[in-house]
This record gives sequence, structure tokens and C-alpha cells, in this order.
Amino acid sequence: MMTRLFRMAAVTLLFSVSTLGVAAENYTLRLAQTWGPNSPILGETTEHMAAMAEEMSGGRLKIRIDSSNKHKAPFGIFDLVRNGQYDMGHTASYYYKGTIPNAMYFTTIPFGLIAPEMYAWFYHGEGMELMQKVYEPYGLLSFPGGNTGNQMGGWFNKEINSVADLKGLKMRTPGFAGEVMSELGVAVTNLPPGELYTALERGTVDAVEWVGPALDFPMGFHQIAKYYYSGWQEPGAEVQFLINQKTWKSLPKDLQEILRVAMRLAAYDMYIQSYDESGVAWDRMKEDYPEVTHKTFPPEVIEAMREATNKLLAEAAEKDELAKEIIDSQFDYLKRVRQWTNISDKAYLNSIAED
Ligand code: CA
Repeated sequence: MMTRLFRMAAVTLLFSVSTLGVAAENYTLRLAQTWGPNSPILGETTEHMAAMAEEMSGGRLKIRIDSSNKHKAPFGIFDLVRNGQYDMGHTASYYYKGTIPNAMYFTTIPFGLIAPEMYAWFYHGEGMELMQKVYEPYGLLSFPGGNTGNQMGGWFNKEINSVADLKGLKMRTPGFAGEVMSELGVAVTNLPPGELYTALERGTVDAVEWVGPALDFPMGFHQIAKYYYSGWQEPGAEVQFLINQKTWKSLPKDLQEILRVAMRLAAYDMYIQSYDESGVAWDRMKEDYPEVTHKTFPPEVIEAMREATNKLLAEAAEKDELAKEIIDSQFDYLKRVRQWTNISDKAYLNSIAED
């Protein structure tokens, strides 16, 4: 344990001499990610970030990535980085709602902001400041780590026509949405990504919510489930980079800035890559499995989900001042920015819609 604890301090300091004769320190940071090896999009995002940081720093900043097969703790990234076993992490903060409930709101809130609105809140609203307020007491820094875009509501083998159809349904859906579903009588589990296909195939769960076409396609859910529902629960899910504050402080200013820029660009690239690949994947799924049917939850079900969401948000805000500050900040922001979304993207899509 002790050796692991000290590993972080081993932000490897290697000295090299540049052509100008000035000693330059090289740093190697270790990053643990929730995702498995060769994980599409999510894993590509950390690799992309690491490659940019190394290139921009002329090789002075290297980031070594361990996937879940190596560290064996896909949902333990928060602790691995907090304890200093790793310098950095890439994960979704809503996986830690048990230990650090207020982190959850920085991934997404049901009925909340869509991706462009979420980024606007982070970088031009109060998002970054509030996120830091939540992570600071744990000796961590957190940065947006990539957006999946609007997530699908999940794969089902029976139609959901009423709230009664949800009762007793065994479903994988994490975060706040899981709590909302529990309120509506769903038996909720949060299985790690690697177990989802088998669980659905064997009937351990009746329904699975993962992400959207880009990431669902390689999982193969379309081969074993019939109905693909649009979402309500993760309108703009952002994953996070976590960094141990001691590591951050040990970096010279220029490398901090390089890392910051690499994370920000890799995050935005993940959003547009997800967008692109979702288009491609949905097209393929429809062609290969024409029986897969797209559905939206009926208004009665959406209304029940919205009511349960509002109830749980009100309870969280009542219990914790910082939770209230974050929830209010996101929904105040939404109230203003959504007016613009409505007269721009939404009105555009509606006005040009063809049957
Ligand atoms: Ca999801």
C-alpha cells in the first residue's frame, strides 16, 4: 500500500539538457481510466489528450494510461487519484454519488442542459468554479473530459406505454437517473460497461441504458434488444478528468497550461467524434437489424420522470447548501440559454422538418 501511495510522488523527474544548455525536467503522469483497453471514443479521448500533451511539450510531459483491466477499479477512479495512487483519472463523476454526491451534477442532470449549453455553463457560466468547490476538499482538480452528446434512454425488449410498464423492470442505468427510475419502481443496477451485453442477453437485466449509437453499436445491444428509446436522463453527459492537486502543483506553469489545453481540446473532440460516429452507427444498425425500432417515451411516462426528478432535486437541495447552489446555477442558466436554443436549433429543425 505504501509503495502505491508513493508512486504518485514519483511524478518522474528526469533531467535532460536542451540545446540551449538549460536543464529541463521531464514529467510522467499516470492516469487511471474507468474504461477498458481499446475502449472506443472514451479511451481514444485519453490517448488523444496524452498525445497532444506530449507533442505540445516537446516530450517533457508524458501521460501513461492504465485501463480498468490493469487497475481493476473502474468505479474507483476518484479514490485512486485522491489517494495518490494515480496522478490523473478519466471517469464520470456521477459514478461517485455514494461518496461525493455533489459531483454527480457535473456529469448531467435529467431534464437539464444539452451538450452545447453544458459547455457554455462550464466555461462561460459558473460550472468550472462550482466543480472546483466540490473537488477541492478532496485534494483534487476536475476538468470537463468529453461529452457524449444527448444520450439514448436505453434498450428494451418490451414497449413502455405507461408508468406501470416500468414497475419491477430490471434496468442498468447509473447516476441520478437511476434514482429517478427507482422512484418509479424500476429495479436499478449499475453494472460496469464490460458486463452489460451478457447481462441483457441472459436476462439478468431487462433493459440497458449505456450511451448512444456510437458507443452502443460496438456493444451489440441491437442484436438482442428490440426497442431503442430516446433519452430524458442524460441530455449532455460530460465525463471528467481528475488530477491530484499535489501533482498539479508540481508541474511548471507552462506544462499546466499545456495539460489544460490538451484536456479541453480532447474533451470537445470527444463530443464531435461521438456526434459523427452516432450518425454512422445508427445508419448501420437500422440497415443490419431492420427490426430495431426507435421509440420515445409517452408523455405520461416523461411527466412521471420529470416529477420524480424534481422531487429528488428538491430533496438534495434541501439537505445540502452546495447541492442547492449547483442545481440552482444549472437551472437558472438553462432558463436563460434555452430561450436561445429554442429560437435557433429547435426552431430551425422544426421549421424545416419533413415527415
Ligand atoms: Ca448513460
